[in-house]
Amino acid sequence: MTETPRAVGFIGLGNMGGPMAANLVAAGHAVTGFDLSPEANDAARAAGVPIAGSAAEAVASAEYVITMLPAGRHVLGAYQGEDGLLAAAPAGTLFIDCSTIDVADARTAAAAAQAAGHRAIDAPVSGGVAGASAGTLTFMVGGSEEDIEAAEPLLTVMGRKTVHCGGPGAGQAAKLCNNMILGISMIAVSEAFVLGEALGLSNQALFDVSSTATGQCWALTTNCPVPGPVPASPANRDYQAGFAAALMAKDLGLAADAVTSNGVQATLGLAAADIYRQLADGELAGQDFSTVINRIRGNSGAGAADA
Ligand code: NAD
Repeated sequence: MTETPRAVGFIGLGNMGGPMAANLVAAGHAVTGFDLSPEANDAARAAGVPIAGSAAEAVASAEYVITMLPAGRHVLGAYQGEDGLLAAAPAGTLFIDCSTIDVADARTAAAAAQAAGHRAIDAPVSGGVAGASAGTLTFMVGGSEEDIEAAEPLLTVMGRKTVHCGGPGAGQAAKLCNNMILGISMIAVSEAFVLGEALGLSNQALFDVSSTATGQCWALTTNCPVPGPVPASPANRDYQAGFAAALMAKDLGLAADAVTSNGVQATLGLAAADIYRQLADGELAGQDFSTVINRIRGNSGAGAADA
């Protein structure tokens, strides 16, 4: 039981929001949740989260409002309007948006919250559904020092680490930049394995060299896209239960928008966004993003396919 229970309105009780809200309840906070989906509400209720009849009702006496929604348009749509969260919450409420959204939308949302007399931070997460359930997420946070400090009692329940990245939108910026590195590096590792196969090199031999040489990276040493060298990687369970290719496509789409609107030369980032978009449009969309190696192998010549 927490020493100081906080009143929290939690909007968006899907794969991530549901377990995050349940962890806050388990820690003794006074959470009221709401989701547009009756199934999400039922699952959260079964996990101990009291459910309101509307989003406005869920935040009517909140000190904190947490949103965990699919995209920027959902966050802005939920915040704004006569029945929106900004109008319904008591003045001075701290809005914490944990969704992964466009940096520009995050800044718009924070400015709208402040204009309505509230406080706001963006706090996207990494760690996936497993981290949301275990309360071990990492929060990348944008906003003022004071507001982030005020959010800490909740963030420490839902996660293990908080990194203050800068002003409004900086958390989203960090999330997109990190995932651009990850998406590109997984393609690089996958292309190298497929080339190695074409050259008659065993996957284990390439792993043994690169994992201790200059090619080492998380995509190789933790989430290795071929079965064998890293027993816990999704490749060993037919690419199930990892970070879905569709979610990587979404994040790299946001990164690509930011690359384009800021005039940055990010040739590989744009190419990676395109590759994951095609993957997400196909039958491998639900598999871990390391399944990109299967697309590369499938599109390569007979030598690689036979290896
Ligand atoms: P999800 O689709 O499971 O959940 C989103 C929920 O929001 C749904 O239940 C939907 O009904 C609800 N919703 C949409 N609009 C609403 C509104 N106006 N009011 C109330 N509810 C509304 O998605 P998720 O996997 O929980 O992801 C949520 C966010 O977290 C996304 O931005 C995603 O990119 C990010 N994220 C997800 C993961 C992951 O592994 N799933 C990891 C890191 C970040």
